[in-house]
Amino acid sequence: MNVSSKEFFSKTQPLKQIEKELLDQTGCVSVKWCGRAATALYWSYQLTKSIREEVSQPEVILPAISCTTPANTAMLAGLQPRFADVHQDTGMLGLLEIQQRFTENTVAVVFIHLYGHTRDLTAINKWCRERNVLLIEDIAQAHGARFPNGRLAGSVGDFSVYSFNPTKLLECGGGALMIRSAEHEKIMSKLEPKNQVQKEPEADIVDQLGLSYRNLHHSLVTLFRMGADAALSTAFLQIRSAFDAMYLKRTYDSKSLAEAWSQLPGILERRRRKAEIYKQKLKGGPWQTLDGWQKSGVCWRYSLLVDFPEKVVVFSKRVRSDGFHVSNLYWPVNHFFKPDDECYSADDFARRIVNLWVDDSVDEDWVRQCAESMQKNAAFEI
Ligand SMILES: *Cc1c(COP(=O)(O)O)cnc(C)c1O
Repeated sequence: MNVSSKEFFSKTQPLKQIEKELLDQTGCVSVKWCGRAATALYWSYQLTKSIREEVSQPEVILPAISCTTPANTAMLAGLQPRFADVHQDTGMLGLLEIQQRFTENTVAVVFIHLYGHTRDLTAINKWCRERNVLLIEDIAQAHGARFPNGRLAGSVGDFSVYSFNPTKLLECGGGALMIRSAEHEKIMSKLEPKNQVQKEPEADIVDQLGLSYRNLHHSLVTLFRMGADAALSTAFLQIRSAFDAMYLKRTYDSKSLAEAWSQLPGILERRRRKAEIYKQKLKGGPWQTLDGWQKSGVCWRYSLLVDFPEKVVVFSKRVRSDGFHVSNLYWPVNHFFKPDDECYSADDFARRIVNLWVDDSVDEDWVRQCAESMQKNAAFEI
């Protein structure tokens, strides 16, 4: 059943129990279900703009290590994305890096719980509140992750966004925006009627745009990796709005979402078992494994930073030709949107990151063999 009501966000019966749980666990006041995390991000930005309407040229601070969706949807909503550097060993934002990018136009910070990992957000949250800067938690890769104090990711930010689309943890389709305060919820309810005028494009057009964007992204990363300069960013910024239509998706399937929800603990457990295997089998190799999943409980991809950045492309190619997925396509997003926001740790991170698969498309034997291929090709490489 596809839900497409007059309102952009619709409440449907099968999700009532899940909503109650989510609100209890995160301390939020409302859940807005939609078709994508991108859409939830877009509405969190629109809401931010209404809350901080006195700022005429609003900026949002994003981590330089991310997919491009949080920045593309910021531009779609009329916010200028600014990029803060990340911690070298986690790829996530820290307070110092956020402070370095802060201006009087800063209205929001998006914290991305990268690859299922997380970190204590107490200091960032306090700093944001003191400046009336909204904190948005992006949980697309970290649904179910726990902070070091045991609370659920999504229990700190003013807003948090979820993705339930393929490649994420639940792959049934959909997204959600959570709102923490009653005051913000009231402002959102005034924004909602405006949403009705937006028309959703045909699914096959969205698919074509998605594929086209992926190809463009891959092409640009290759050129950036070869040292292309600011001209590439200018070209990208000139054409990026051609893809805007794919980010606003209101429909989702509430029944499959409700069914998928109960499967999350099992999904996370199977992922952790595969991550354990990688950790054992990758010991002693020329890399540093990112083990944040052990604390958060969520492993989205098994990630490592290799010690041979200049050879990572040929290395990945060899592991792929042994039959295993490896990816390293997270190029620092500032290079696309704002090259002046230099982020040196992100540059280093992006040249070293390799992500391995732990989802249900691979089994534990596959994981063992993948780790062996990694060791073999690294020994050959060095
Ligand atoms: C995938 C992803 C998104 C977008 O999710 P959709 O549901 O596909 O819109 C947003 N943020 C992060 C960090 C993601 O990984």
